[in-house]
Order: sequence, then structure tokens, then C-alpha cells
Amino acid sequence: MTVETERWKEKYLQLIEQQERQEERWNHRLDLLRRSLVRSSLALEGADPAVEQCLQQMREVLGDGDLDNGLDVLVPRLEKAVLDSDRRRQERTQQMTEALQRLLGQLLALQPPADVRRGLKRFGRLLQRRAAQPRELPAVLMELGSLQEQTLQALDREAPPAGLLQRLFGGRVAVPAAELPEAGTQETAEVDAVPATDAAAPVPCAAPADETPAPEPIPQPWLEAAAASDFALPESPEQPYSAIAEHVEGTLHALLDALRLPAHRQPQVEALRARIQQGLNWYELVPVLDDLAGLMIALSDQSQREFEAYLQTLNERLQAMQSSLSAAHQGHTEAQAAADVLDSQLREQVGGLQDSMHQATDLADLKQAVEARLDGLLHTVDCYKQQRSVQEQVLGERLQQLVGRVGALEEAARGLRENLAEQRQKALEDPLTALPNRAAWSERLELEVARWQRYGGELLLAVIDIDHFKRINDSYGHLAGDRVLRIIATELRKRLRKTDFIARFGGEEFVLLLPATSRAAGRGVLEALRTAIQACPFHFKGERVEVTLCAGFAEFAAGDDGEQVFERADQALYRAKHLGRNRVESA
Ligand code: GH3
Ligand code: MG
Ligand code: MG
Repeated sequence: MTVETERWKEKYLQLIEQQERQEERWNHRLDLLRRSLVRSSLALEGADPAVEQCLQQMREVLGDGDLDNGLDVLVPRLEKAVLDSDRRRQERTQQMTEALQRLLGQLLALQPPADVRRGLKRFGRLLQRRAAQPRELPAVLMELGSLQEQTLQALDREAPPAGLLQRLFGGRVAVPAAELPEAGTQETAEVDAVPATDAAAPVPCAAPADETPAPEPIPQPWLEAAAASDFALPESPEQPYSAIAEHVEGTLHALLDALRLPAHRQPQVEALRARIQQGLNWYELVPVLDDLAGLMIALSDQSQREFEAYLQTLNERLQAMQSSLSAAHQGHTEAQAAADVLDSQLREQVGGLQDSMHQATDLADLKQAVEARLDGLLHTVDCYKQQRSVQEQVLGERLQQLVGRVGALEEAARGLRENLAEQRQKALEDPLTALPNRAAWSERLELEVARWQRYGGELLLAVIDIDHFKRINDSYGHLAGDRVLRIIATELRKRLRKTDFIARFGGEEFVLLLPATSRAAGRGVLEALRTAIQACPFHFKGERVEVTLCAGFAEFAAGDDGEQVFERADQALYRAKHLGRNRVESA
């Protein structure tokens, strides 16, 4: 064997020895990895069914299976299962955070004192980050339970149990959305005037994120217990639920105990309690928290309804008052000035009422303020009524005076009307014979002519003149002549139809209108008048004196007016005189 060969042999043996050592190291590492994987998979048991199944198969492969082929298949499946599990975990975390935020919002809606409210807000600010770490959940729930207990205890100190309404709606009817801390965001300023680093704050909360980057460590005995076991992984993304179940259930029971719900809600509370009692897991925890939030909302809703009922009653009272005021105001618009004053006072009172409602810090204050304002309103209304009563009395007296004056005026007016009618009658009547005079004739002539022009038919106009009347005056005196005129007038009138019209035209002359009368009928009427007058037994100085008359008449024809027909009738009268008197002639 040459030196060269010896050198190669030596080198070969060294390499074999080196490879054996390396294999030994690899095997040792492989064993460590296998053990780690087995222990890790055991630690993750219960985390997720899909992951658990993969891990179970992996443990079998790691035991005595085909490592190369088995891992080639299992690792991608495990990778996918773990990613899916992580996604589901994030969703559950988000749902749980939202449920806790709702619970937190309900507690804030109860308007706890400033220190408790500050604790709640800190809790809310850190909730998102803490809820993302499952190991934090027991501490989160314990802290929330503690905050709820403090809230309810503080409110119990403020008011009797029946006054939950007052606690809910004391200062502000609803909690402004701005007061609820945004999940996962950092508040730059405290809403309350109390400093953020109030050492007196009794709640062992973590400090705000902007002051201390990492939250203060919270005592976690359960974590220490878990760490003591083999391969417990403190930084594992998810703890087995069983590790925290006891704490979670205890906290949820405490939350339910602290709720004072009405009797009809008790079955829901008991059902929830039973679900918690039976044991929860990650999947059931979120709906349980949701139902719990629902119960707290129901508690708030009940109080809201009570308050709404009170406001409804108040509103009805105000409406009744407003309607009675409107009626009073409507019925007395004449008292506008007083009504304006009342209006402004009422507006002032109602404005004050609104201010009081805004300023009141609890329901008792609100009720007191409202009652005071209502008393003020009633007082204003009473004053207005009294003032109006006095005004009404004064107005009533004035009205009576006015009524008396109006009565007197009406009486005077009636007298004037009668007088006027009388005057008018006189103005249209001949004083000697009491027949219509010439003015009345003109009116009637115009009327009959218009009627004839509109409806047509027959219309006669006649003129009568006493024959030799001058002789009567001359022989027996004017008074005798007047008496003769009166007698003739009466005789003429009583022999005419109601539709005929006669007037004294002047002196011893009379005019007639005979509507709907033919020439022949008209002649007959006039002849009858003539003979009647001739037959009148006038006696003067013991001897009978015959009085006669002449009449001339004319018929209205197309295109005629009153004057034209009168002219023709007058000519006929002249002809009658000319023909010897005591005659009737027509145009
Ligand atoms: P003739 O037949 O032509 O009509 O003759 P006459 O005398 O009637 O006519 P005349 O016109 O000449 O005279 C009318 C007289 O009537 C004149 C007047 O004194 C008289 N007379 C007019 N009005 C009145 C009156 O109101 N009373 C009296 N008593 N006589 C009057
Ligand atoms: Mg004459
Ligand atoms: Mg005459």
C-alpha cells in the first residue's frame, strides 16, 4: 500500500466517522423535533378539529410511519388547517370584542360616576388589543365584571333601586356616541375633567396606550399553572378553552347576578345561566355574550319605555292646556294685546321648561322642574283669565251701551224710513184728491211703457178734462170746485181695474193708463166713467148741477214713446171739446 493510498484510506475513515457523528447529531435533532412536534400537537389539542386531526396523523407518522412521504402530505394540510383556524380565531375574537363593546356601551349608558366611567373608557380603549390575545380573556372578563359591579354599586348609592330610570336618563337621555371609546384607537384627550392618571381610580385597569406602550401586567395565576406543565406554550396563539372556562363562567355568573331584570325576563336569565353551567367552548362563548348584551339592552329599553310613558303624559297635559288656550284665544281675538302678552309669557315659560329639561341631572330634578314650570304656566293662565274677565265685564258694559244706542238708532231709522216713505208718498200724491200726482204719473208711465216694450200687448193712454170747470169755480167758489174735483177723483178711481192707473195731471185734468186694453174696451171704460160722472148728483145752493167731462185716448203702437202717445190722446181730447164736450174721442 502506497503512502498515497494510506492517505486516502485515512481520509475516508475520517469522513465516515464525521458522517456517523453527523448522523448521530441529526438523529438526535430529529428525535428532538419529533418530540417537540408530538408535545406541540398535544398542547394544541382542542384548538381546532381540523388542526387536531392533522396533528393526530402527524403524531402517528412521527411515531413509526413513513416520515418523508407522510410529512410531504401532512405538512401542507397542516399549514392550511392552521391558517384556517387562525382566520376563524380572528373572526371569533372580533365577534367577542364587539359583544364586549356592547356590554361596555350598556354600562356607560347607565351614566356611572366619573371614576367608574373613566375605568370603563380605559377598558374600552384596550379591549381590541387585549381581546386578540386569548390568554387575556379571563382577565378582561374579570375586569369587566368588576367594572359592572362598581357601576351598579355606585348607582345604587346614588338612588334607590326603583330609580333606575333616573340613573339611565338623569343628566342626558342618551349617551352620545362620542363618549363610547373607539375600539383599538387611542384617545388623545379624556372626555372627563378628571386627569387620566388618577391614582385614586379604584379599578386596576391598564394605563392608556398613549402613556404606556405595554399594558401593565395583570396577575395571571392560571398562566403560571399552565406554564408548569410540559410544553405549555405561553405565546401560543390560542389556549385550550378549558384552561379559562372556570374563570369565564364565574365572571358570567357574576354578571347575571348583578343584573336586576323584571320577572318576565327571568326565564331568559335562567336559560343563559344553564348554558353557562353546562360548560362553554370558544364557539359558544360569543353567542352567550351576545345574549347577555341583549338582556342589558332590554333592561335599558324597559327604562326607556317608562320614561317615554312619562313624557307622553306630560305631552298630553301640555296639549290639553294648549288646546284650551287656543279656544280661549280664538274666542277673544279682540283682546289681542292681552293675548300677545299671554303668548310671550307662555313662550317664556315653555322655553324655561325646555331649559329645565336640558339642565336637569336626573328624573327627580326633571319632574320637579317640570312641575314648577307647569305651576308657572297655570298661574300665567289664571292671571290671564282674571284679566280677561275684567276686560269682558268692561266690554260687556260697552256692548250693552252699544246695543242701546243701536236700538235707538234703529228706532230713529225706522221712524225716518216711515217718514221718508210718507214723504215719498206725499211727494207722489195729489193733496187735494189723494190721487197720484204728475210725478207719480211720470214714473208709472215710464214703467208701463218699458213693460209694454218688453212684453208687447195693448196699452192705452187717456186724458180726461172737466168741461167748463171754470164756471163751477166762478158760480160756487173754489172750495166748491175743490169738492167737485175730490168727488170726481174718487168716482174715477173706484171704477177702474187694479191694473189701471189714474193720476191728476193738473187743474181739472186727469190721465189714465189702461194696460192690456183694446181700443174698444178702452172706449167702453171711458164711456162708463163719463156717464158715471154725468150721473153724479151735485147740488149747489139747493139746485142740481150736472158735471161732465171729455176724454181723448190713444193706443201705443210700435216705436211710440210716452210723450208721442200723450200728444195724440191730448189731440183727441181737444177734438172731443171741439165736438161739443161730454164725449170720448180716440186718436
Ligand atoms: P173747458 O171746457 O174748455 O175745459 O173749459 P174750462 O173752464 O174747464 O177750462 P179752463 O182751462 O178755461 O178753466 C179751468 C179752470 O179750472 C181754471 C181754474 O180756475 C180751475 N181750476 C184749476 N185748478 C183748480 C183747483 O184746484 N180748484 C178749483 N176750485 N179750481 C181749479
Ligand atoms: Mg183744463
Ligand atoms: Mg176743463
